[in-house]
Amino acid sequence: MTSETVLDIFKEITRIPRESGHEGPITEWLCKWAEAHGLEYKVDDIHNVCIIKNAAPGKENVPTLVLQAHQDMVCEKNEGFEFDFSKDPIPYVIEDGWMVAKDTTLGADDGIGIAACLALLESDRPMGRLECIFTISEETGMDGADAMQEGFFTGKTLINLDSEDEGQLFIGCAGGEHTDAYFEHGFENIAEGSKVLELSVTDALGGHSGDDINKLRANTVKILADFLERNESFQLVSINGGGKSNAIARECKAVVASPCADVLAADFEAYGKLVRAAYSSTEPALRFSVRECEAARAVESGAAGRIIGALAEVPHGVVKMSPDITGLVQTSTNLAAVSSPEPGVIKIATSQRSSVEAELDALVEKVAGIFRNAGARVDCYSKYPGWKPDLKSKILKDCVESYRRLFGEEPLVLAIHAGLECGLFLEKFPGLDMISFGPTLRGVHAPGEKLELASMDRFEALLDDVVCNFK
Ligand SMILES: [Zn+2]
Repeated sequence: MTSETVLDIFKEITRIPRESGHEGPITEWLCKWAEAHGLEYKVDDIHNVCIIKNAAPGKENVPTLVLQAHQDMVCEKNEGFEFDFSKDPIPYVIEDGWMVAKDTTLGADDGIGIAACLALLESDRPMGRLECIFTISEETGMDGADAMQEGFFTGKTLINLDSEDEGQLFIGCAGGEHTDAYFEHGFENIAEGSKVLELSVTDALGGHSGDDINKLRANTVKILADFLERNESFQLVSINGGGKSNAIARECKAVVASPCADVLAADFEAYGKLVRAAYSSTEPALRFSVRECEAARAVESGAAGRIIGALAEVPHGVVKMSPDITGLVQTSTNLAAVSSPEPGVIKIATSQRSSVEAELDALVEKVAGIFRNAGARVDCYSKYPGWKPDLKSKILKDCVESYRRLFGEEPLVLAIHAGLECGLFLEKFPGLDMISFGPTLRGVHAPGEKLELASMDRFEALLDDVVCNFK
């Protein structure tokens, strides 16, 4: 196989719809592809696919190698761009050495992983038995990896092809859990003579709650809650901010009623100046704004105080760095969102991550305790295990040796502070020896996602070398 082959297959994949939760077309395409190539394949109940290639003559005694990628992609497009992810091919261009989708996500995360597997499956270079696993709904909760049954694959060594930096080999990831709080509240009338204001903190960078948690970015929910916690001369009408549980909150708005609204607005402006100064190097666009609006009723004040108190008290950010791997966040928590899913209920969504299970459990308990003490019902769910780095791994040794021989330099060996499906496999396939690597991608999960073509040559060469020399 060559990197051209991989790229050509990926270009075909860009034509096939594969939004998380709607993987039907790509699942079917993979099965037809296996049939057309005379390869054995199977599909499990949740629609994970396994395509099997038997060992080449003379390679029968080589242990089975598992290669793995995910079928789904994040489907995001620029506002106003006419595009239907359920049928339209991804519009991409090749420029300046990159393959780019300007107005949509490209889906190289993880279409390039699928393409690399298929290129190896159709390659006529001699190699041992391969099991290529394609999971579903990785992006929305790793449902495919989570639901996979023991025995779906039999190999004891797995290469995950869902990483985003050529030259980096990943040997560990964080586990995580979600902790959500539900506050039920009554309503009260807005005091006579009050003015209603909407206070907004917007235009923060946001980012991924794992990868970006150590970048000192502003959490707008936290910033607004801290302001409200310090003031008393208002009634809370509503508070909404953040979005996805795996993102840092980019904007937050609170509607409040106050008899001294002008003073409150001036205080908010002054507070905004201080916060903007504190974040001047990391959050140049951060914005504070106030506008008058209207409201019929407010959250009953006892509950409002408890909700704001909990938002201000609950921790956000890095809790502990790894003592073993320089620069790796070991444990962190994200105050992700506050919303009102129905009248009379305010929900706070958070998530915790750690590569050390005991620290994860302790942090979840701490966050849940703050919410419970404030009178909320707490829901802890979707716990997923981490993958603890094993510096003695055989596949790591193989990859490092190949990398040195091919390129005459050392790869970086890292762990990430985010989830990978590898953590989930480890639960069901104990003792599995794993590694994760891929070509260089930038801007994944957002319009403008791009793939560096030069990194494809090295990615393909390394994968081919490791697979063909595996013993
Ligand atoms: Zn991915």
